[in-house]
Amino acid sequence: MRLHEYQAKQIFGRYLIPIPHGRVASSSGEAKQIAEELGGRVVVKAQVLVGGRGKAGGIRLAKTAREAEELAAVILRMDIKGLPVRKVLVDEAVTIQKEIYLGVTNDRSIRKPVMITSFAGGVNIEDVVHTSPEKIMRVVIDPLLGLRDFQARDLAAGIDLPRELWRSYIEIAHGLWRVFDDYDATLAEINPLVISGDQKLMALDGKMTVDDNAMFRHPEMTDYRDIDVEGPAEIEARKYGLSYVKLDGNIGCLVNGAGLAMTTMDVLLLFGGKPANFLDIGGGAGAEKVTAALRIILQDQAVKSVLINIFGGITRCDEVARGIILAKKEVKSTISMIIRLAGTNADEGKSLLLDANMAAADSFSEAARLAIASVEGEA
Ligand code: GDP
Ligand code: MN
Repeated sequence: MRLHEYQAKQIFGRYLIPIPHGRVASSSGEAKQIAEELGGRVVVKAQVLVGGRGKAGGIRLAKTAREAEELAAVILRMDIKGLPVRKVLVDEAVTIQKEIYLGVTNDRSIRKPVMITSFAGGVNIEDVVHTSPEKIMRVVIDPLLGLRDFQARDLAAGIDLPRELWRSYIEIAHGLWRVFDDYDATLAEINPLVISGDQKLMALDGKMTVDDNAMFRHPEMTDYRDIDVEGPAEIEARKYGLSYVKLDGNIGCLVNGAGLAMTTMDVLLLFGGKPANFLDIGGGAGAEKVTAALRIILQDQAVKSVLINIFGGITRCDEVARGIILAKKEVKSTISMIIRLAGTNADEGKSLLLDANMAAADSFSEAARLAIASVEGEA
């Protein structure tokens, strides 16, 4: 999960990394209010989960609160790389003398975290890696020992940081490492870390990605999830432990097992159909989970038919059938559902469906063809 700049900076601040004063706003009026509190000279920054906001016009300097209000109004109407801007961060403006890069991530090839720094900050660090790798310093962190003082000093020396800023830089490096470690992050990055006009280090941007597999250790962070990026269906799916990814076709797919779900999508494509989603209900799903899954699939307006493909193992086909029948009652959909049940308790499942006036297809390929045919029938 990627965090917004304002969220990452809030966390950085708790780890004693100096950040500018500021707050997030959802309206231009709020932005004006915050700018007034900060004395007028502010930066207004689009909060969207993509890089290069500056270049896209999503970061603007304002000299007065009035101007901040106008800029916020403009930015809040923007789309940056396809993402709508719903919030702006209003930060006190900082005079920049120099921009530095500082980040922690995992180096998969050595299976350890690395801290990376460069005096060519501000710009895209991936570009610097290619054009002038000599401008980048890195230290490998032992995950058990954490960042060592001498390593932080090596980094400071490596970028020729003025001596009087070393102490602050080393504290920031330790703070950033602890953020990375405490939050199970895969990336914690400050770009730019600036030397301000009054010779202080300050984090002007913040980027953080938290490993989704570790989210259960950070229940307090579920509020951080961005509905605009994830979509309400994905969030609903997560609540029930379903893996759901929306796609752009019109045949909803409800499958157990990621492998079978992928195969189902492939078979649909092969026969000339288009899957509307990937959905894996996982192993051993009960009726309630199946109902939730169908609800999620059917709330997608593009869905014209649903293909339910179950290979019973731990998952029992009769449980799935119960879920389908329940869901059909609940959502009162007229969309046709093509069902294929095989494996554990398939016969019980099929007879339950028959009792409810629904039929199961005989084979995977027949089910796929029927699903495609019923979409074409509706078109
Ligand atoms: P990004 O483009 O999405 O990475 O957004 P950043 O937060 O890194 O901002 C991009 C650039 O805007 C920075 O590298 C700075 O040059 C500039 N910027 C951001 N905040 C300030 C500020 O407070 N004062 C000044 N003068 N420039 C800023
Ligand atoms: Mn940046």
